[in-house]
Amino acid sequence: MSFWNQIKHLFSRSNQTMNQPNESAMSQMAQPEISQEHLVNLMQRLEYTMEEAYSCEEAFALLDEYVELVATDEEAKRLMPLVKNHLDMCPDCQDEFEILLHILKTADSDE
Ligand SMILES: [Zn+2]
Repeated sequence: MSFWNQIKHLFSRSNQTMNQPNESAMSQMAQPEISQEHLVNLMQRLEYTMEEAYSCEEAFALLDEYVELVATDEEAKRLMPLVKNHLDMCPDCQDEFEILLHILKTADSDE
């Protein structure tokens, strides 16, 4: 089951529980696998992941800087890990990065 499906699944279960408060007391004890705490924990993880991930716009805004770092210094991956993460996940930005890197390297060797 994917992470997203897991979350949807948890939400649908927790909604059911809220709609049936009288029955839930017993059934919750019988089915301890879903707790509100567990759900909150999952959502916090999700929110954290989303905050940490760059959008294409954010990655693109830093791409020039990142390319220069990569061209001059392999530390780029450590200095700008969020850009690196986005490039790993996003083929479009990865392409853009390759092009910029190529341009930068070509310009350097010409002069
Ligand atoms: Zn992207």
